[in-house]
Amino acid sequence: MEIIDNYSYLLEQGYNIPRNSVLTRDISFIVYIFNKLALNSDQNNIIPSECQPISEKDIFILRKLRNKYELLIDYCDPDEKLYQGLDEFLKAVRFLIKQIFLLGYFHKYSIEDIEKIKEQSSILAISMALSSLKELKIKLQTNHRFVRLCEFHKEKNPSLVLFENTSSYTCFGCNNAGNAVSYLMRAEDLSYLTALETLAPAAGVVLPPNSKAKPRHDITEKILAMYEDEYYQELINRSNQLQEIHEEKNREELKTKAKIYRKTLLLPVMPNFRS
Ligand SMILES: [Zn+2]
Repeated sequence: MEIIDNYSYLLEQGYNIPRNSVLTRDISFIVYIFNKLALNSDQNNIIPSECQPISEKDIFILRKLRNKYELLIDYCDPDEKLYQGLDEFLKAVRFLIKQIFLLGYFHKYSIEDIEKIKEQSSILAISMALSSLKELKIKLQTNHRFVRLCEFHKEKNPSLVLFENTSSYTCFGCNNAGNAVSYLMRAEDLSYLTALETLAPAAGVVLPPNSKAKPRHDITEKILAMYEDEYYQELINRSNQLQEIHEEKNREELKTKAKIYRKTLLLPVMPNFRS
């Protein structure tokens, strides 16, 4: 009976998931989260005060489910009935994750603080401070981009790109990508909460006390020390200089373009008309 109820419940929420034994157990979990969020009448009308607390474990499981079904759907034929089920299921999971995020539920820290930590972290400093390579070579590209050998897969040619201005990274070899927080989580095998708490002091963000957090002060120290490192400073200086040259060139180009544009404006549109 419970199975039918869960599927019907989700249908009421607008998710038409065909009954499938692969999904049954995970479906009970998302219905449990739907209920916690008090989303049983109108999806678009969430009243935060009526929601039950969402635990870190809930969020962890939801994210795991999303990753699992994203992988699974890749192996599925779009014409299969199961594909439709997985697709609808994923929609529901993504919807829940988004709602939890919008509720500001992520680990009791405000979205503003979390964004500040992400923006104000130097991905270059983090990447250098946590490097396991004995000799780390970093290549500077334009627009505050740095390229180095990847920490997340074995390679001989560097394909890990660090975007210092957005504090994000992408590896074109193993497709790992993300922000400062996910870099730390991946490189040091930390939880989201620990990574945030560890980065906060280095990013100049003061978080409200949280008894659950166990920041890794040793990592914070390493990152802070990196700001004083000569090689790091030189890379940042050169990157800034390169960017200035680049922008200067752009400005010159714009000036030239503006001159041409003005000249064009001064030209009579229909020369013959005047006579
Ligand atoms: Zn990689």
